[in-house]
Amino acid sequence: ALAQAVLAGASGQLRNMATVGGNLLQRTRCGYFTDVSRPCNKRVPGSGCSAVTGEHHQHAVLGASDHCVAVHPSDMGVALTALDAVVAYETGEGPGEKPITDFYLPVGDTPHRETALPPGALITHLILPPPPAGARSRYRKVRERASYAFAIGSVAARLTVEDGRVAEARLALGAVASRPWRAHAAEAVLTGAPADGATFAAAADAELAAARPLPRNGYKVPLMRNLVVSVLTELAEEATR
Ligand SMILES: Cc1cc2nc3c(=O)[nH]c(=O)nc-3n(C[C@H](O)[C@H](O)[C@H](O)COP(=O)(O)OP(=O)(O)OC[C@H]3O[C@@H](n4cnc5c(N)ncnc54)[C@H](O)[C@@H]3O)c2cc1C
Ligand code: SF4
Repeated sequence: ALAQAVLAGASGQLRNMATVGGNLLQRTRCGYFTDVSRPCNKRVPGSGCSAVTGEHHQHAVLGASDHCVAVHPSDMGVALTALDAVVAYETGEGPGEKPITDFYLPVGDTPHRETALPPGALITHLILPPPPAGARSRYRKVRERASYAFAIGSVAARLTVEDGRVAEARLALGAVASRPWRAHAAEAVLTGAPADGATFAAAADAELAAARPLPRNGYKVPLMRNLVVSVLTELAEEATR
């Protein structure tokens, strides 16, 4: 999943230059964030959010607030979130670590504060716990053109199937929230259940029950449902082959 996520990002030239720390800390691609003629709470706290009533077809459907509906653009961060990565860093006071699920802050009313990285900290490496025996993983990205485009939706999943049932599931969704979105509600439905299409659809529905689409990004809800079901079905088929 991690290799597929890295390869799905940007272009070959960009990937050869870009770094792991820089990819995780890249800012949103919301057009109003870089358009200094328009209000943007992330750029100028308290100024307003132009996207809520403006162009938002690529924006968030999960975990957003009235203050900001932007999504995080990283592909790699989605896979790392599914795989329980830990971000390790150095500060002037010494080293520190944060699970990636705590690394990105909820958007709330402070969209300008994106991570829990202490000021001045330098990300030095990531720690990836070993996967369970027999686990299979995958990253699938949907974009508006076939290459060199940010996701409009993505899924990173790791599935372990034993005797036809899901022994372990890890799932994260991309391009739907201000941070790579760990799908805890879906994982709870999956764990211990039969590894079949009905379970996968129920898991997707459980996660997406919290979706609050805007007028022009409602398509993301069925898109993500189909992506989750499709990726989990593929992994389950591979596991029983
Ligand atoms: C046209 C284009 C298309 C792209 N498409 C995608 C895509 O589809 N998917 C995707 O995931 N990404 C995409 N990217 C992002 C790209 O993959 C890089 O991750 C991104 O440009 C960051 O590059 P960088 O590593 O040079 O970081 P920089 O731009 O150098 O750094 C970004 C920020 O992180 C800080 N930083 C960097 N390293 C560290 C560190 N170790 N510790 C602490 N702070 C640090 C920097 O100070 C800066 O604030 C795209 C970028 C472009 C320009
Ligand atoms: S969605 Fe966030 S980044 Fe975009 S305009 Fe609103 S506050 Fe700014």
